[in-house]
Amino acid sequence: MNRLDGKVALVTGAARGMGASHARKFVEEGAKVILTDLSDAAGKELAEDLGGNALFLHHDVTDPQSWAEVVEHGVRAFGDITVLVNNAGILGPVTQTAELSEADYRTVCAINQDGVFYGMKSVLPSMERAGIGAIVNISSIAGIAANYGFPSLAYVASKFAVRGMTKATAIEYGPKNIRVNSVHPGFIQTPMMVEATDESGGDALGLIPLGRIADPNEVSNLVLFLASDESSYITGAEHLIDAGMLAQ
Ligand code: NAP
Repeated sequence: MNRLDGKVALVTGAARGMGASHARKFVEEGAKVILTDLSDAAGKELAEDLGGNALFLHHDVTDPQSWAEVVEHGVRAFGDITVLVNNAGILGPVTQTAELSEADYRTVCAINQDGVFYGMKSVLPSMERAGIGAIVNISSIAGIAANYGFPSLAYVASKFAVRGMTKATAIEYGPKNIRVNSVHPGFIQTPMMVEATDESGGDALGLIPLGRIADPNEVSNLVLFLASDESSYITGAEHLIDAGMLAQ
C-alpha cells in the first residue's frame, strides 16, 4: 500500500527544482502525476524517467486557456484530478520598491499569485466530481514575514496572497471534502535559490537555526503528507518548513 494510491495529481513547475522532486515522490507513492511547466525538454525527460504514471504537458500558469487545456488533457489521460500542487513561481528581480518596474511587479504577481487562482479555479470542478481533493499552494517564508532581505515587494505580496487565497478557498470548499493548505519553505537548494544567492546559500546560512540549506526532498515529504489522506483533518493552515528561521 502506497501513500498516494488512487490519487491523480497535477504539479506545476515540475520540470526542475522542488516541483520535480514533488512529482517524483508522488509517482513513487502510487499517484498518477501530470507534470506541467514552460520548460518542455526537462519536463519531458523527467516524465519519461518516471514511467507510465507520469505525463508531461506544456503549461503557462498565467494563462487560463493553458489551464483549461492541461486539465482537459490530464483528466482524459488519468481521470479526475484529486491533488493539485500550485508550485510554479519566480523570484523576480531582487530590488527595492522604488526601483521595481511595473512590468516586473506584474510578472511576479501573474505567475505567483494569479497562477494559483487560475489553478484552483480550473481544478476544483474535477475535485468536486471526484468528491475529494487536496490542494497544496506553495508560498514562502516571505508569505509570513517580509524581513529576510532579498525578495522584492512583488514576491512578498504574491506569497502573502497565496496564504490568504488558501484560507478563503479552504473555508468555501471544506464542506465538499476539499482541503487547501499552504506551504512556506525557507531556503531550499534549487535553481531559484542558487540564482538568488550562490551554491552555498551565502549570507543566508547565518539566518538558519539548523545551519544548512534544505534538500528539495525534505519539502516533498511535507507536500506528500498534505496531499495524502494522512492529513485528512488539516485544512486552511500554513505549514512552515524553514529550519526555525521564523522562530527568531
Ligand atoms: P525553480 O527551481 O525556479 O523552479 C520553478 C519552475 O517553475 C521552473 O521549472 C520554471 O520554468 C517554472 N515556471 C516559471 N514560470 C512558469 C509559468 N508561467 N508557468 C509554468 N511554469 C513556470 O524554483 P523552486 O525553487 O523549485 O521554487 C518552487 C516554488 O517554491 C516557487 O513557488 C517558489 O517561489 C517557492 N519557494 C522557493 C524557495 C527556495 O528557496 N527555493 C523558498 C520559498 C519558496 P522555467 O525555468 O522555464 O522558468
